[in-house]
Amino acid sequence: MSNWENWLKTKARDRESKTLERLIEATEEATEPWTVRNGKRLLNFSSNNYLGLSKSPSLQEAAIRGAKKGAGSGGSRLITGDNADYRRLEEKIAELKGTKRALILGSGYLANIGTFSALLDENCGVISDSLNHASIIDGIRLSRATKYIYQHTDISDLEAKLSEAKHAGHKRLLIATETVFSMDGDVAPLKDIIELKNEFGAALLVDDAHGAGVFGKNGAGYAHEVGLAEHIEIQMGTFSKAYGAYGAYIAANEEWICELVNSSRTLIYSTGLPPSLIETANESLKLVSEADRARSQLAQKAKKFRQELNNAGLDTCGSSTQIIPVIVGENDLALHIAQRLRARNLLAHAIRPPTVPDGTARIRFSLMATHPDNALEEASRVIIEEIRNAEARKF
Ligand code: PMP
Repeated sequence: MSNWENWLKTKARDRESKTLERLIEATEEATEPWTVRNGKRLLNFSSNNYLGLSKSPSLQEAAIRGAKKGAGSGGSRLITGDNADYRRLEEKIAELKGTKRALILGSGYLANIGTFSALLDENCGVISDSLNHASIIDGIRLSRATKYIYQHTDISDLEAKLSEAKHAGHKRLLIATETVFSMDGDVAPLKDIIELKNEFGAALLVDDAHGAGVFGKNGAGYAHEVGLAEHIEIQMGTFSKAYGAYGAYIAANEEWICELVNSSRTLIYSTGLPPSLIETANESLKLVSEADRARSQLAQKAKKFRQELNNAGLDTCGSSTQIIPVIVGENDLALHIAQRLRARNLLAHAIRPPTVPDGTARIRFSLMATHPDNALEEASRVIIEEIRNAEARKF
């Protein structure tokens, strides 16, 4: 036991010395523009409820309708956890995405680790953007494929890594990228990626967690926005962000989904989502498809907010979406700024390694269609002032 105690203490001390401790803090009204922490009302820049749908009455009613069918699904979908509601939802997703099939999975994290580990094996090479989400990284680790990391969104490095992978003689190659990057708010150069994918005979998996609902006709996603969805083999999306709910899906053609049904361990060995979440996801698909106004409000608010920060000389790291980071560099500086913002009634988190590369700690601002314009204007003034002060004084 003392070995464990020593190890736990050393780990805690180490985190503390690097300003890397993480805390879970209770938040009320967590998906609303104004959130409450420790009794204090804060403008919320930390929610993925991009379209403001999470508290919609019809979503809440859908959850209750579903819950009346039972609080849980009672089993893996391959045993007894499947039902007609699941099927209807999958058909709607496939229709929206323009694929033959779709498969619901427990969450975005589970969709990614289940899919990568099912489709890849030791005969494969996987070429992955250096800033891909932890769930992609973990899925690749589980798969035993050889991993090639290309510099973030760098097409010539992707080409170099594809060449390297090809010469290594792997039987199958897969390129993996987020569409909208969760920590940088920039987008993948999908057109160039698809050209290289075709040239090298690879397949492409896109993680559209932050693009689904926000971009494309009816919120079909970022690949639809840029007219390239039909060239992508596997599209992953979640209901946990713009859809305001929970759960995730993989959309792809028949053979891919058939393989996943037979070998995705996160599908086979985990209980299906409860009926309340399936009903909610169904309703949220409808709300998102009707949310053109919220989508354009979100885009306008994000553009204006980003411009104000840029005009003041702040580095928003190539962001062109609703996710707007300001890179400040050191962990302690990022934490200090986040605390100062909190003191001034703004909730924005310091994002530190290992979530982002060393030396690129940042404050991440996630915008929602429901943020009032005047609150955003005032907030950008406060943010600029606090970041300048902290950097000037090195606190
Ligand atoms: N992929 C990306 C890019 C994400 O940002 C997230 C959530 N942070 C996930 C996958 C996981 O999705 P979920 O929260 O639904 O598990």
